[in-house]
Amino acid sequence: MATTYTRPLDTASADTHVRKLQNFVGGKFVEGGKPFDVVNPATGEVHAIAHEADADIVDQAVKAARAAVEGEWGNMTLAKRRALLMRVADRIEERFDEFLEAEIADTGKPHSLAHHLDIPRGAANFRIFSDVIASLSTETFEMDTPDGGKALNYAVRKPLGVVGVISPWNLPLLLMTWKVAPAMACGNAVIVKPSEETPSTTTLLGEVMNEVGMPAGAFNVIHGFGPGSAGEKLVAHPGVRALTFTGETRTGTAIMKTAAPYVKALSFELGGKNSAIVFADADMDAAVAGLSRAVFLNTGQVCLAPERIYVERPVFDAFVAGMKAKAEALKPGLPNDEGVDFGPLISDEHRRKVLDYYALAVAEGATVVTGGGTPQLSGAAANGFFVEPTIWTGLSQDARICREEIFGPCCAVIPFDTEEEAVRLANDSDYGLASSIWTTNLSRAHRVGQAMEVGISWVNCWFLRDLRTAFGGVKMSGIGREGGVHSINFYSEPTNICIKL
Ligand code: NAD
Repeated sequence: MATTYTRPLDTASADTHVRKLQNFVGGKFVEGGKPFDVVNPATGEVHAIAHEADADIVDQAVKAARAAVEGEWGNMTLAKRRALLMRVADRIEERFDEFLEAEIADTGKPHSLAHHLDIPRGAANFRIFSDVIASLSTETFEMDTPDGGKALNYAVRKPLGVVGVISPWNLPLLLMTWKVAPAMACGNAVIVKPSEETPSTTTLLGEVMNEVGMPAGAFNVIHGFGPGSAGEKLVAHPGVRALTFTGETRTGTAIMKTAAPYVKALSFELGGKNSAIVFADADMDAAVAGLSRAVFLNTGQVCLAPERIYVERPVFDAFVAGMKAKAEALKPGLPNDEGVDFGPLISDEHRRKVLDYYALAVAEGATVVTGGGTPQLSGAAANGFFVEPTIWTGLSQDARICREEIFGPCCAVIPFDTEEEAVRLANDSDYGLASSIWTTNLSRAHRVGQAMEVGISWVNCWFLRDLRTAFGGVKMSGIGREGGVHSINFYSEPTNICIKL
């Protein structure tokens, strides 16, 4: 049964359609599960009703996934598996506008952003991992044996089995497919628990899987929340062999605890408190353009966004003035309105959290260069969860604003005098996901780029992604790496065969 469209259950006006999002188990959209509202953050209106998977639905999903691994999906040739994944990418593109509309409704993000980033990357993820899996070798070692003979070792790559995928709301299709595509390329069956805030594109992907002829149970979707709900039930289910999670660090620790008794394999992409460093020799226009994009893209709800920017003292004022002008030129509003390039935060709850940080910044002695509040918007956007893009100066390195992840459109700008000081300040964090360094000095670019205690160090750019490269965090920003062969190494495990010749 396809996703159906129904009249609103209780909230919206009679001419509004509210999408009904069911759990997708064993190739079917199944009835059942407690309904919950999915809100469009740009308007505050309910635009979909999703259904929370209970223990029974989670168990059905695990059984369907297991059956797929043991059945047609697990025994399929690599060529056919790759062709199916390529078809998924094609079909996402054929249904581009539906994915776009669903993603925009869930997140409220500007049309141009979802159009250029979220949906294309959803398709690209299936293509890249379909390619990567075809080009990988496994290791072979010939060895001497104690009796003077030879033995040959070679490895074969095997899927893990049933993989649980738990994804966040900030880049819903992009981050979910970033896990689903390599997991399926390796021959695993997946059960996705998308964020309760953004369940729509994952549900649509269930339809796509059926349309391309994916064997039932290879891809499953369960909706719901984290603790005590579908997320925790998935983590605790003994039939789930591995968990791949992107989200907050404290959620990662909760998942680790629940998964520990079963010794499940874990891949974690967690929070960050990313830094940027601008040296006086930087191309200032490029630095301002690049870092204003980095701070404000997706309303700051990007795990890689720098919330601490260290600027060499001679160019500090010019940089702050440039950032202020960029922030004030952003246009908030409804995703499809002309010229809108700044969306809302994901929820009222998240807005309250960000506004609490805005108040804390002032309490901690910040000078508010721009922003610090909520914009006055009219029409439907008046009820959206908007905040102003915000820049602070005058904060100390020890301020909570400079240590805790805010996940909003804001940054603290702090001056420095020497390269050593900049490196020390940037690395002075519990987190270590990404950094962005701006300089025209080639030696410094390499030196400082390598000195950063992070998983990804960008120089004169930010969020420039080659999907074959390692992606992940150090310290409290994650466990393991995704991307290219790194993803394949997590979603498969080698068996070594030793043959005495
Ligand atoms: P979150 O941790 O609140 O939720 C993520 C997912 O985990 C959701 O699907 C949620 O329902 C589920 N969940 C929550 N508690 C759970 C539990 N106890 N057991 C099982 N599942 C549970 O994160 P979020 O608010 O959706 O996303 C924002 C966070 O994600 C930020 O901290 C951001 O830095 C991080 N993030 C990291 C990366 C990265 O690549 N490192 C990328 C994007 C976002």
